[in-house]
Amino acid sequence: MQNVIEISSAKSNKIHWNTIIAVSLFHIGAAAALFTFSWQNLAAFVLLWWVANSLGIGLGYHRLLTHRGFKTPKWVEFTLAFFGTMALQSGPISWVTTHRLHHAFTETDKDPHSPEGGLWWAHIGWIFKGTAQIQPEAVMTRYSPDLMKERPLRVMNDYYWLSSVLAGVVCFAIGGWTMVMWAVGLRTVIGWHTTWLVNSWTHTWGSRRFETRDTSTNSFLIAAVTFGEGWHNNHHAYPRSARHGLTWKEFDINWIQIKAMEKLGLATEIYAYDLNAKEETTLRKAA
Ligand SMILES: [Zn+2]
Ligand SMILES: [Zn+2]
Repeated sequence: MQNVIEISSAKSNKIHWNTIIAVSLFHIGAAAALFTFSWQNLAAFVLLWWVANSLGIGLGYHRLLTHRGFKTPKWVEFTLAFFGTMALQSGPISWVTTHRLHHAFTETDKDPHSPEGGLWWAHIGWIFKGTAQIQPEAVMTRYSPDLMKERPLRVMNDYYWLSSVLAGVVCFAIGGWTMVMWAVGLRTVIGWHTTWLVNSWTHTWGSRRFETRDTSTNSFLIAAVTFGEGWHNNHHAYPRSARHGLTWKEFDINWIQIKAMEKLGLATEIYAYDLNAKEETTLRKAA
């Protein structure tokens, strides 16, 4: 069936100056933060990096909301989505729609961050120009109808930046400006680049287990800085699998956390590709 909604090419000439200015300021703040090291600031950085990028982006936005690799109670889903907003990578519905487009049109001109556009484009250029992460209502309704039905997610989608303001206020109260620079400024910038490395690096360098129709790769290095999201060739081969690292050597912190959530009764119906069976049909419903 043909798509009813026309997805425009991700590369148009519209330049998003607001994004360019905000991203530049964050980079300046992040560089300045390096001169204000303290163990307390580092601890706040690590804590919020884990909350925003592992629980929020990897587990929440990506494996749960985009691919529905497992189920959680609604309050858990909304909490993970809230954590995702803290990464300042757009709201849950825009992010999920962008990522579903990446899987639907991988490496074509409709892929929002196609590596065909070059490394710079796939990494960061795509957020400055063209459709970027700004998805029209019709496209979100077409690609994320499940999320559009949820009012809390719609509110978070419109006001995704609020959680970062809140995090800034809390950090300021605890540790002053330098903690804000570490736990919001530097942490957001590191979180951006590590997430973007999945789009650039693991579509360029690394090893391939599966002969997918795209150039996706597995990278230990990228998995190490993204809590397991760097097993990207595995992921393109079996997108719904909540497990990305398929052997014990392919360390996947997000998968370990999903298993821990299962033990706590917070995750059910987990889809996980079984490498030994070597068949897609082995995606199994866990009890
Ligand atoms: Zn990809
Ligand atoms: Zn994905």
